[in-house]
Amino acid sequence: MSPFINNPPYPNNYGSEFLVIDRGEGCYLFDKKGNKYLDFGSGIAVNALGYGREDLAKTTYDQMLKLVHISNLYATEPAVELAKKLVSTGDFAAVHFGNSGTEANEAAFKYARAYSQRVKGEGNYKILSFSNAFHGRTFGTMSATPKEKYKAPFYPLVPGFETTTFNNVDELKKVLNGSFAAVIIEPLQGEGGLESVTKEFCETLQNICVAENILIISDEVQTGLGRTGELYGYQTFGLKPDIITLSKPLAGGLPLSATLIPSKVNDVIHVGEHGTTFGGGPVTTAVALKVLDIINNRDFLNNVKALSKYFKNGLQQIVNSCDNAIGVKGEGLLLGLQLKSEDLVPQIMTKCRENGLLVLRTGTDTLRFAPPLNITTQDIQVGLDILKKVL
Ligand code: PLP
Repeated sequence: MSPFINNPPYPNNYGSEFLVIDRGEGCYLFDKKGNKYLDFGSGIAVNALGYGREDLAKTTYDQMLKLVHISNLYATEPAVELAKKLVSTGDFAAVHFGNSGTEANEAAFKYARAYSQRVKGEGNYKILSFSNAFHGRTFGTMSATPKEKYKAPFYPLVPGFETTTFNNVDELKKVLNGSFAAVIIEPLQGEGGLESVTKEFCETLQNICVAENILIISDEVQTGLGRTGELYGYQTFGLKPDIITLSKPLAGGLPLSATLIPSKVNDVIHVGEHGTTFGGGPVTTAVALKVLDIINNRDFLNNVKALSKYFKNGLQQIVNSCDNAIGVKGEGLLLGLQLKSEDLVPQIMTKCRENGLLVLRTGTDTLRFAPPLNITTQDIQVGLDILKKVL
């Protein structure tokens, strides 16, 4: 029996051949044949606490028996408690819950446009994003995602979105002015090649945004909740956002997102201007409370930093000894290995899988590693040894 399935009735945007995963345990996944894989992908940076967690399963089970869904016409204790905990992590006043990263960003755009047009005047609605950014696949977030491959057949997109070059201070000074409602930025570009925002770029961005009352949205969908070794990626890179968006790891693998807004924005929003049926249900928020308690802990975050150091050293040694690997990228446990050519990436990924290691891709020529944040140095070394052998 092959552990692969071909041509399941999925739309063609998903390709045709899939490894069928059956279960997970810690940092390992198992296919139907019992083959074991070390997971350096975490379901695309989602499974921050690993697989097979009895604590999260029990919370889910208990809450499902109590109440699964009630809509935003009512409040539930887990949702209110999570909202309070999230706003206390920074200068935030309120949280809009949704179900996915793209929804979190769409909500941010809506809040930013409403704020800007009510405070600065109609017409000040533009949103700036940066080259190689990825913010999602719905129409608003696609409009803020410059790569044509994500949007070519879907035009026309949403008007009022512009893009400038990431980390180019001179261009930023020319483009950004008071007609913009917001800037959306990933402090470390997860899909676009693992470039980090520079200190100089952060400072310039900050200065213009403060002077022109432009909101900074930090898209923390991939970098948030411990991934960079701080609770949020913006803390690692010294950015000071007004709004942040979270999703992937928030509810331990269940779908949940959060858009955190400051009081000046919340103060101009009126009842009924945004909403969702499922977002912030009692099950996902109950699990997220556990996840947040585990991750928002200095020892846990310091351990991510220590693991990152170990991982980066190992990757650097591979660069020193393998001609096909040319550079180490990323921060925390969102790391990359840049290869000599982009044609090597699919080959190396396949070979890694055949040797029991699952990895991701970022940009064009880089392997991406986003293991569970509670991985051990021993397991990191297992993965490094496979990578070295394959390369
Ligand atoms: N923003 C960033 C930085 C992402 O990495 C992603 C997904 O990879 C998204 C937004 C979109 O999230 P989702 O796929 O949950 O809509």
